[in-house]
Amino acid sequence: MADVAVTVIGGGVVGLAIAAELAPRYSPFFVLERNARYGQETSSRNSEVIHAGIYYPPGSLKARLCVEGREMLYRLCEANDIPHRRVTKIITATKREEEPELERLHKVGTGNGAKLEFLSAAQVHAMEPHITTVGGLLSPSTGIISAHGVMDFYHHSARLHGAEVQLHCTVVGLERQPDGYLVTIEEGGQRSSFSSEWVINAAGLECDTIAALAGIDVQQAGYRLHYCKGSYFALPGSMNSLVSRLVYPVPTKHSLGVHVVIDLGGRLKFGPDVEYLPDRRLNYEVDPSKRHAFAESVRRILAFVKDEDLTPDMSGIRPKTQAPGDPTRDFIIAHETARGLPGLINLIGMESPALTASPAIAKYVSDLMKTS
Ligand SMILES: Cc1cc2nc3c(=O)[nH]c(=O)nc-3n(C[C@H](O)[C@H](O)[C@H](O)COP(=O)(O)OP(=O)(O)OC[C@H]3O[C@@H](n4cnc5c(N)ncnc54)[C@H](O)[C@@H]3O)c2cc1C
Repeated sequence: MADVAVTVIGGGVVGLAIAAELAPRYSPFFVLERNARYGQETSSRNSEVIHAGIYYPPGSLKARLCVEGREMLYRLCEANDIPHRRVTKIITATKREEEPELERLHKVGTGNGAKLEFLSAAQVHAMEPHITTVGGLLSPSTGIISAHGVMDFYHHSARLHGAEVQLHCTVVGLERQPDGYLVTIEEGGQRSSFSSEWVINAAGLECDTIAALAGIDVQQAGYRLHYCKGSYFALPGSMNSLVSRLVYPVPTKHSLGVHVVIDLGGRLKFGPDVEYLPDRRLNYEVDPSKRHAFAESVRRILAFVKDEDLTPDMSGIRPKTQAPGDPTRDFIIAHETARGLPGLINLIGMESPALTASPAIAKYVSDLMKTS
């Protein structure tokens, strides 16, 4: 018999949500996290938006798990006092040529299960007097959440049900055995190993490295990650009252567009942009020379913003499975039985909307384990 029933690699929002869902049913249960605290990587470097599920291709896991996860997340927040707010969101067309895109988004979004209402320019201005618009879409179910708040909740629930969350613990080996996997970890320069019946790879920006440790050819499997940075610039506090909800432009082929993000303290930020990185260094510096380009994007929506109003803020890195210029790819959540690796579940390319989708992702993984 294996030493441990389930090992989750990665203490981000996805790994913690999975631990909270599974720990009541599996024991002993480990979550292994390489950093000194959980949730220090992508899970704390994002827009903290509860997405409605508007943009994702119909039938995709992103669409389905976002819509399911959004409702689950609101229920969790309300029942457990997790800081959040249904601020709502407007997608604004800033010129007539963008209006067909609003119609397309309305069709795709409502098909996915996001409620959306068309707004005239006058209706948009009644809600947001300062934004540029010829008409828009209102998403009443879009909100914002404290990412740390929800991770603290998952962490607490998992531990309450007996899960051990090991920090400063890097997984460096994963070897198939008859009754599971031999997991090798490095803690404080020391290596040790234990066996685990199930291994769940929720390692975010290293999910492909972990899959490779298990012997998967990640290039051939389509698991190889491309790091794609998103930076934000902030507005001075004196401008915070100029916008009261999330405001997005109509999206481009590769991004939702630099948009207005509001945090729970009412602070306004713009971002994230899209910058594929040349290597896998976790460089979170925001390049101040991007200020003019940001200001130009922002002026599409808020014409009065000057370059000097913007200050570099924060950034996050998306774990994308698509290379620059390639079409968007879906989440990959796979029980690897077909690769001869039963008991290994890989979660690959868990970019946006995985924060929103986190409770539904956890349920999806739990169902995979029950049915396989
Ligand atoms: C700029 C940006 C904006 C975003 N905005 C939103 C949004 O508004 N709404 C939304 O729903 N989603 C958003 N997202 C997406 C969301 O943040 C991520 O999908 C989510 O945080 C992914 O969580 P995760 O647990 O998979 O990854 P992570 O948070 O990266 O967690 C993985 C963990 O694994 C650990 N790890 C890695 N390798 C090892 C190892 N070998 N051993 C042990 N531990 C290891 C890491 O230290 C890390 O803590 C955004 C993402 C970005 C980059």
